[in-house]
Amino acid sequence: MTPVSQEARAGLAPLALSSAEGLLSPNGSASLTGQEHSALRRLARTLRRDILFTIAEANSGHPGGSLSELEILITLYYRLMRNDPGNTSWTDRDRFILSKAHACPGLYAVLAHRGYFPIADLSTFRKINSHLQGHTKIGTPGVEMSGGSLGMGLSYGIGVALAGRLDGRDYRTYVLVGDGECEEGQVWEAAMAAAHHKLDSLTAIVDRNGIQNDRFTSEVTALEPLAAKWRAFGWQVVQANGHSFPSLLRAFNRARETKGRPTVIIARTVKGKGISFMENNPAFHGKAPSWEQTAQAMRELRVSRREAGQAMRTMGIGDERTDALVDAMRALG
Ligand SMILES: [Mg+2]
Repeated sequence: MTPVSQEARAGLAPLALSSAEGLLSPNGSASLTGQEHSALRRLARTLRRDILFTIAEANSGHPGGSLSELEILITLYYRLMRNDPGNTSWTDRDRFILSKAHACPGLYAVLAHRGYFPIADLSTFRKINSHLQGHTKIGTPGVEMSGGSLGMGLSYGIGVALAGRLDGRDYRTYVLVGDGECEEGQVWEAAMAAAHHKLDSLTAIVDRNGIQNDRFTSEVTALEPLAAKWRAFGWQVVQANGHSFPSLLRAFNRARETKGRPTVIIARTVKGKGISFMENNPAFHGKAPSWEQTAQAMRELRVSRREAGQAMRTMGIGDERTDALVDAMRALG
């Protein structure tokens, strides 16, 4: 296992510049100033850049769902959740569980930039002995559940939320599930149980990007009417634009204010969001972009060659690959 530096464990790892701006500390507020909104949008662009570098360097991974979930994760880790990168076992921390654990490059980018572990660890993604594997696992700072088999995260979250209730703690539990994942029977067993226990400290978020693996969800198994199904199971349903920070904040705030039942936020998202050739394209569910495609993506994100080179070096990506990407960007003109 790649050692996590003592500095990171102590919370002393240098935070990304975006964090250091002081505009991105979680304060639980449901509203945003214009400055804060701009800072969040800049952060999302930076994280999209590093998600793509992470997957391109590994030549393996899941870009589509990592890009569709990103604003949801940023909203939680940078605005709402009580979380301390320097104290990952803090008893009163809010918990986030990534049930669709293959979308971990998105979570790893958020955790690294938030300061849970060094950004340089991102270049070890999917490599032997790295703590950043292709599905989340306990042991990575900030990761709450070992994932992989789909359908399990909501059940796990119920256990976490019930434990908090038994212990008299007021932390909140958030579980992100994929829309394709909602075909798993265990999701609905969990939905029934959470409503039975009136788990109002539990919020599920469905990343409703309309694609699962290699096809559209509507072609595999129709999910609609999805909101009516959750309502029938006793949940409050809130619809949100999953790429809009104000929309997500309003939805999470409604969840927080609702007592006596759990809330599910159906977040409408675009798989591969932000990169034209990945958007709404099942081919990029679980495929790494080539360096040429990564160069094209950087152009779309308005990342300069200089910025790309600096970011790759910060991530610990070697000179040869960094040069290959910069050359590919230069070839695009
Ligand atoms: Mg999906």
